[in-house]
Amino acid sequence: MIRIKRLPEEIKTQIAAGQVIENPASVVKELVENALDAAATTIDIHLENGGITSVTVIDTGAGMYPEELALAIAPNSTSKITSAEDLAAIRSYGFRGEALASMAIVADVTVASRIPDRSLGFVLKVHAGVQSPLATVGMPVGTAVTVENLFSSVPARKKYLKTERTEVRKVLAALSPFLLAFPTVSFSLTHNKKDVFNLSSQSIEARIAAVLEISQQKLFEIDFSDAHYAVKGYIGAPQLAHKGTQRQFLYVNGRPVQRTDLSSVVKESFGTLLEPRTFPVFVLDIVAPPEMVDVNVSPKKDTVHFYNEAVIKKMLFSAVQQTIESADLHYASHGRGIDSLLRENTMEEVTAGVLKAEVDPWSVKNFSLNAEAEILQVHALYLIAQTSHGIVIIDQHAAHERILYQQFLEAFEKKKTAQQKKLKKQVVFLLPLEDYEALKENEQTLARMGFSVTFTKRKVTVRATPELFVGRDLPQLFSEFAADCREDRPIAELDSVTHRTLAFLACRTAIKAGEKLTQEERRRLLEKLFATKTQFTCPHGRPVYIDLEMNDLHRLFKRIQ
Ligand code: ADP
Ligand code: MG
Repeated sequence: MIRIKRLPEEIKTQIAAGQVIENPASVVKELVENALDAAATTIDIHLENGGITSVTVIDTGAGMYPEELALAIAPNSTSKITSAEDLAAIRSYGFRGEALASMAIVADVTVASRIPDRSLGFVLKVHAGVQSPLATVGMPVGTAVTVENLFSSVPARKKYLKTERTEVRKVLAALSPFLLAFPTVSFSLTHNKKDVFNLSSQSIEARIAAVLEISQQKLFEIDFSDAHYAVKGYIGAPQLAHKGTQRQFLYVNGRPVQRTDLSSVVKESFGTLLEPRTFPVFVLDIVAPPEMVDVNVSPKKDTVHFYNEAVIKKMLFSAVQQTIESADLHYASHGRGIDSLLRENTMEEVTAGVLKAEVDPWSVKNFSLNAEAEILQVHALYLIAQTSHGIVIIDQHAAHERILYQQFLEAFEKKKTAQQKKLKKQVVFLLPLEDYEALKENEQTLARMGFSVTFTKRKVTVRATPELFVGRDLPQLFSEFAADCREDRPIAELDSVTHRTLAFLACRTAIKAGEKLTQEERRRLLEKLFATKTQFTCPHGRPVYIDLEMNDLHRLFKRIQ
């Protein structure tokens, strides 16, 4: 019996649709790409119920002929390429001709369009898979596409949609790269008839500043080119670096792409200017001859391959590095070392005081001294002890640092949620929309932590904070919280400032290399170390101890092979 059959056309399209349309954000992305391909100068987006009930995108682009409307929603129909050769050099966002067709399969679609030399537009509807005859409609030149009842015919997919708010947040994330790439195009967004944003045509610097809520002064332009390629755009000053990667925008020939490997190259080129585990802000376009780039890599068109990846990476690295050097950003980072943290008269001092009072560095509870095995101290730096299976060599400073870090951390966690301190002056700041939305979703968690915060129209007002956050750079702290929320992590188990402060405290309080320890101190240190969670590396990442099993020793002495 022959079991392999060709799939019917409708199943094929359903499978393809699933790859292109995942949620309201992917609908918005595809419709905005089409509007931009049609050279629109104004794009208005309207969402109802997070876009699940409806997404409408209205553009002032070139429009479509009435005869083209049915083709536009037919599978594999596009005006953007005509031959296989065209695939090798794509300049538009679209080329697969499947976005509108996919939408018509998983939702109800209405396309209305008018070209400049007609006085009326035409409208085509595909509702529940049934196409209605063309009708005329009065409208300005351009195109308006409405996508309603997303996945109502595909319950399996619908259940993956999240809350209204989360879907709006994803729409914002999907829109941001286009807002930044087309500063001269006006964009607006409404949700449930309320304005979310309204951006008129502006300079690129002004657009970046508006979308990312950062000051234009902290942006540095990159304009680099060699024989084949160029890198153009902006990087943010190192101080803007962030715990999350959501302010990193990478494009290839204007197409937003997800290439974490290239984002890491940008990060690397900042070298030591960045705090550990932070990510620089950038909006960068790699310009390459279209024939050197393969954009036909995924149905979502969100990644590309280069003909010569290594060359691209090298160029990106030098482009960023040169800008950093010539902008003398090194100066800007002065005084941001761990040491300075406690010198600045800020929260860190308070944290230090509160925590030190809480933790007695040498108190060791449940301590049982095994009088037998002696612990050697060599060069007032390493401790050597016998274990059941061999020996262990310990770095006394790193070990103590690790123990203290863990104790400070526990004290911090206990204190964090405790007392609330009313701020003398309330702190008000703006956040990028996505951060704002992410935090607003977690309003209750913040309240539970002891923050008194209100959210109004993108403005965050903080009236009280938990004791341990008094005097902290609140906008910075909140954007770190937002980064956690967006990655679906619980808010700030440890934000980077706290992490640095605790690590600093632990480092400064710990016994040093060169300190003589009594036999009893050595033993306490070891006992405590092995009772400490994650005792393997110090907070700076160096190893704390090295474990040598008898077999390792035997091998060293060639007792065994
Ligand atoms: P693709 O963008 O890959 O060509 P789509 O399914 O997104 O595929 O669109 C199909 C075709 O419909 C496009 O090639 C374009 O000719 C036309 N079209 C879609 N949206 C618009 C628009 N907003 N303005 C003008 N033409 C459009
Ligand atoms: Mg398209």
